[in-house]
Amino acid sequence: MKILVCPVCNSTEIEYDAGGYTGKYYCKRCGYVGSYVLEMTEGEYEEMIKGEEELKRRKID
Ligand SMILES: [Zn+2]
Repeated sequence: MKILVCPVCNSTEIEYDAGGYTGKYYCKRCGYVGSYVLEMTEGEYEEMIKGEEELKRRKID
């Protein structure tokens, strides 16, 4: 099963505005609205989060 991920804040709290005329996605965490979101499996998402945490750790060091 694929999950939708916000391209701005990496949140998975994405809602599809199917009832609206825009047909866009809405991120409940950061308020992003757009037709583009990331689509990936849970495994891919976990790897992305791990990778970003690794990057942050390197920047601090
Ligand atoms: Zn977001």
